[in-house]
Amino acid sequence: MMSEGPKAGFSFDFRIKREETRPRTRACDHAGCMAEGTHRAPKSRAEPNTFYWFCQPHARAHNESWDYFRGMPEEEVLAFQRDAITGHRPTWRMADRVGSPGAAARARAHPFFRRAQAANTRTRQRRPLPLQAEALATLGLDAGASLNEVKARYKELVKRFHPDANGGDRTAEERLAQVIRAYSTLKTSGYV
Ligand SMILES: [Zn+2]
Repeated sequence: MMSEGPKAGFSFDFRIKREETRPRTRACDHAGCMAEGTHRAPKSRAEPNTFYWFCQPHARAHNESWDYFRGMPEEEVLAFQRDAITGHRPTWRMADRVGSPGAAARARAHPFFRRAQAANTRTRQRRPLPLQAEALATLGLDAGASLNEVKARYKELVKRFHPDANGGDRTAEERLAQVIRAYSTLKTSGYV
């Protein structure tokens, strides 16, 4: 039925048009991310027609950075996003400016920072934050310890200080609590 006349021409043109308008496959712009960039975000209000392309999780993290820094000068948010995207370590400069004593700590605990940092530590040499360095020291590891080293040491120490292995010894119990706290700090701060 569609084999002749203008109809055939129309369906041919239509197919070509779809090819032309379908976005090319591109990689997520976040540093080290190999996923497909399926979501676009304007680079800034000054450049509303140039875009970052992100995978879904990085698009979400990017949007959250706008929510988190609402009310901050736009160029500072842009600088932070650029740092997160290129894989540079965020400086927490903006978080310190929020003013209240716990602001920097809360900012570090925010999912956006954790995800940005987790993505960065997958592809970069690890340089721990002070709280992470302290947690690594508690586990008897040095500052550059890898994910596998942390996991192996954690398992080993839990076994060593577990009450079952120590006949209810209070010292061992306290050490176990320290080990668990240290490991949980490394987890929630995005180190492992
Ligand atoms: Zn991504």
